[in-house]
Amino acid sequence: KIDLFLWLISCGLIALGLSYFTFKFRILIITILILLIISWVVPLSKGAVTLTYIQTMLILFSFFGILSVLILDRTRLEDEGNAERLTFIRNRDLLNIKLNKISAKLEARNKALTRYLDIDTAAVKLNKCISEEELLDMVSNEIYKAIRKGTVYIFYRKDIDFKLIAGRPKSFRYNLDDKAIDFDSGIYSEMMARKTSIKIDDLSKEFKFKEIQAIEGTRSLIAYPILIDDDVAGFIKVDSEKTDRFTYDDIRLVSYLGDLAGLFLTNIFYLNEITKLADSDPLTGLFIRRYFLERLSLMLTDAAKRGGKLSLIFMDIDDFKKLNDKHGHLVGDEILRNLGRYLRHSLRDDDCVGRYGGEEFIIALNNTDIDTGYKIAERLRKGIESMSVVLDKSEFHITVSQGISEFHDNNFSISQLITAADTALYSAKKQGKNKVITFEGKL
Ligand code: GH3
Ligand code: MG
Ligand code: MG
Repeated sequence: KIDLFLWLISCGLIALGLSYFTFKFRILIITILILLIISWVVPLSKGAVTLTYIQTMLILFSFFGILSVLILDRTRLEDEGNAERLTFIRNRDLLNIKLNKISAKLEARNKALTRYLDIDTAAVKLNKCISEEELLDMVSNEIYKAIRKGTVYIFYRKDIDFKLIAGRPKSFRYNLDDKAIDFDSGIYSEMMARKTSIKIDDLSKEFKFKEIQAIEGTRSLIAYPILIDDDVAGFIKVDSEKTDRFTYDDIRLVSYLGDLAGLFLTNIFYLNEITKLADSDPLTGLFIRRYFLERLSLMLTDAAKRGGKLSLIFMDIDDFKKLNDKHGHLVGDEILRNLGRYLRHSLRDDDCVGRYGGEEFIIALNNTDIDTGYKIAERLRKGIESMSVVLDKSEFHITVSQGISEFHDNNFSISQLITAADTALYSAKKQGKNKVITFEGKL
């Protein structure tokens, strides 16, 4: 009996082992074993034959075999399911991590993008600026709004020097004295020579630029030149007292706005040129009558407000018709051209001179009483008298007559002021020409 029991156990174990290795063929094995059992059990159930010892053993062996295969199959499936679930969870976690990383990146990109979208709307605003100062102030504001760190400075070439012209925050001027900056050495000259951006994360480590840190208390900075037709017209600088303050994205932004500034500055330059052309007379380069009157009107309003004085000179070339008739219109034109240039260069910037008609000129002397006006007119008279115009190896001379009137305390309207000067000019002509006569009395 014990023998049988041991046999059964060992058979079961062998079946288990076999079925484990032949797991792949489990359906086939189970079918064979079932057929084996049937082939013994069916005849037995009919009561025909008694089972031998070996037969009993084989039946039991088959039975255990089937059982073990089924159990194994089940655990195997369970294991597989578990493993699958585990890999699924692991993959899902990995995916989540990746997803988080990507969405963080996406968020950063979106932020960067909104920066650029903001700049796009800024570009529309910048395009509306009509003066350099207005434009650069707006550019500094846009940079400051987009970068949100450090101090923004814009230097712009005036005459030959760079001047600090705009910046943000509003207190930027207190941080920096533009006279203390040496534009011809170190960082600035390098940037201007290379016409590219500069990014410095720690100035104290840049032996070349140490002096800048000493002057400005700056630790990190980015800078970018503003180009007009490939010439450096100015530059943008953003600096901070902290190290490693700026990113390449900040540089991209500053470069973009710097390039826009260059483009719009060019536009403003041409706009000014066009306006100048439209408002000035092509032969003499002086203001045309309409524009002169506009300017004069503003000057009078200003003088009335301040309680100031203004002198108006009406000037007419003497015997110009004779000269034209004798030497031709080309000579007359050349004389007008020369006289225009002379007048443009003989007066102060806040004076205003226009061509009123053919050979008549009108000059508004700002902040000038009639006595000073007289002296100025005399200086002009003498200057014009000694002026010689050379054409085709011939020399020509002219003289002018002038009448002056004075504006003070709203004594005249604009047309009265002109009429007064014209009246004085008429007197000058009558008194022998090449003269200056002041208007006195009433209209
Ligand atoms: P007066 O000393 O009294 O002013 O004599 P005038 O000959 O200068 O005066 P008038 O006003 O009679 O003549 C002005 C002349 O100026 C007429 C015209 O031949 C000349 N003139 C006006 N405009 C131009 C111009 O654009 N070019 C030239 N060449 N001549 C002009
Ligand atoms: Mg005339
Ligand atoms: Mg004349």
